[in-house]
Formats: sequence, C-alpha cells, structure tokens
Amino acid sequence: MKASAFAYARPTSIAHALELLGVHGDKAKVLSGGQSLMPAMNLRLISPEFIVDIGGLAELRGIVVKGDALSIGALTRHVEVLKAPEVAAHVPLLRDATSHVAHPAIRNRGTLGGSLAHADPASELPACMVALGATIIACGPRGERRIPAQEFFTGIYETALSPHELLVAVELPLARKDSAHFFHEFARRHGDYAIVGLAAQSIIVGGQFAELRLGFFAVGDRPLLAGAADKLVNVAVTPEVLAEAAAVLGEELDPQEDQQATPAMRRHLAKVLLSRCVSTLLSRPDLQFRTAA
Ligand SMILES: Cc1cc2nc3c(=O)[nH]c(=O)nc-3n(C[C@H](O)[C@H](O)[C@H](O)COP(=O)(O)OP(=O)(O)OC[C@H]3O[C@@H](n4cnc5c(N)ncnc54)[C@H](O)[C@@H]3O)c2cc1C
Repeated sequence: MKASAFAYARPTSIAHALELLGVHGDKAKVLSGGQSLMPAMNLRLISPEFIVDIGGLAELRGIVVKGDALSIGALTRHVEVLKAPEVAAHVPLLRDATSHVAHPAIRNRGTLGGSLAHADPASELPACMVALGATIIACGPRGERRIPAQEFFTGIYETALSPHELLVAVELPLARKDSAHFFHEFARRHGDYAIVGLAAQSIIVGGQFAELRLGFFAVGDRPLLAGAADKLVNVAVTPEVLAEAAAVLGEELDPQEDQQATPAMRRHLAKVLLSRCVSTLLSRPDLQFRTAA
C-alpha cells in the first residue's frame, strides 16, 4: 500500500517549522527519521494532510554536556547515540537501551526525538528517559516548555506535546561516579519490540540502594516508574524484602494482552526482571527469582 496524498514542506529553521505547525495544526505531522511515521502512513493507519520534514534542521542535532546534564538534540539518530563517547561516559544506560532498538538500518535513520514523540509503550527509550529522570524540551508558539519525562508520556502513542509543538531536545542528568545501571528486555529476537523490559538506574552505598529508579516498559499504556523501588531503598535486601517489592510491582502493572503475551505472562516476566536487576546491581546471586509468581 502507499500513503494517501499529502502536501510537504522542508522548513529552514525551528521558527519556520513552528509557523507551519501553527497553520496546519493536527492535520500536520512532523517527519524526523520516518521509521515509524512512514510505515504508519503507507499502511494508512494515519493520513496526515501535511508533512513538516524537519530533517534539515542542523540545530536539532548533536550531543553536548551542559553543566550537570547531557543535552541531546531531537534529530540525533540512534546510531549517533550508540557511538557518542559522551553518552558512554555520562549516561551508559541510554547506550545499552539504544542497542536494543530495532536493527542497524532503522537505527541509521531513526531519531531519539522521533522515538520519544512516537511514545510506543513497548519502546526502550521512553522507559530509559523515565528511569534517568530526563527533561524533555518542547518548543511551541509560546516558547520553550521543559517537561519531566514522567509527565511527558500520557498513553499509547500519546504525549504531552500539542500539535503545534516540536520536541527539540532532551536533557539527562550526568550519572554519578557511584551509580550503576541495568538494562534487559525479553523479546522474541534481538531488535524486536520488547515483550517486557526494564531500564534501571541506581546509587549503591555500603551494599544497599541509596537510590533506585525502575523504568518498566511494555507493561501498560506508557513507561512505568515503579513505586516498588521504594521497598528496596535504604534497607538490607533479603529474599523477603524482594518478594514484598515484587508484590507491590504486581499491583502497579497494567499489562495488555496481545499476540506476544498474556497479562499474566507479562506480570511474571516483570517480576523476573526485577529480581535479575536487584541481584545484578547488588551482586547478590541469592536474590535471583526461582519460583513462579
Ligand atoms: C521494523 C522496525 C522495528 C522497530 N523496532 C523498534 C524497537 O525495537 N524499539 C523501538 O523503540 N523502536 C523501534 N522501531 C521504531 C524506530 O525506533 C523509530 O526510529 C522511532 O520510533 C521513530 O523515530 P523516527 O525518527 O523515525 O520518527 P518518525 O517516524 O519520523 O516520527 C515518529 C512520530 O513522532 C513524531 N515526531 C517525530 N519527531 C518529532 C519531533 N521532533 N517533534 C514532534 N513530533 C515528532 C512524528 O510526527 C510521528 O508521529 C522500529 C521500527 C521499525 C520499522
């Protein structure tokens, strides 16, 4: 199938792009890498009347340390995130997560901003943003908005962006020297969307979590910053403490049924990931999940 007819413009500045979005509103769609938008248009799942191709806006590309944050432009491609020494040094969780996004051909075109604006609940990068406590920066007719990642994702393919806004960058706190991260997903093949996944960032002091942020994905309509983490912070983690955290996690999840898994299977896999994460980060093999949930 081919997309419905549409008009097309390639703005020369952010201001120009915003002007076009202002005129065409929800009849327009922003085009970044096109790796999600074009398939959806070709399958006629969506039929925007106007395409605003921001691919030429160089000011939306790049990775730079600004004070105590790493700023990544929305048009920065997945492959650039993977190769950037700044990402490896300051937000290694993002590098690990990006290596699980699709396949090389898609990572060569797809962008960080496109992935976040697309807001697929099974996508790795939204959960990563939530776990890292990122700030999403949007530009619209009234200027710039800084949106905490946790408030940005509002539902399946839904975000806090209005049709008149452009996602321009994300800011990620630089990882502390004493921080540790964990990333794992269950997927049928490497590069497929996850059945269930977990992106976690922590600070460990004296064998205990001083901080723990657990960003689960593919367990509901948006990435989940799990409150179950509270059960594991500033305590000596025993199998009983971990079981209590897993029970809280089970209450928080709202998994969907699809061709890949039932909600019960997703709940089980999320608990397996929780125990793998905690045992890996604390270097405690005794905390590995052994029995069915
Ligand atoms: C076969 C296949 C497998 C894939 N597997 C995975 C996977 O495992 N994990 C995963 O996370 N993704 C996967 N993807 C999606 C891929 O990562 C896309 O690159 C990403 O989702 C969208 O990035 P993009 O730059 O291509 O955005 P586009 O396709 O250009 O845009 C996506 C959406 O975001 C909007 N948008 C884009 N940029 C902006 C912006 N700056 N401001 C406002 N709105 C914007 C567009 O209007 C559109 O609605 C897969 C894609 C394919 C085709």
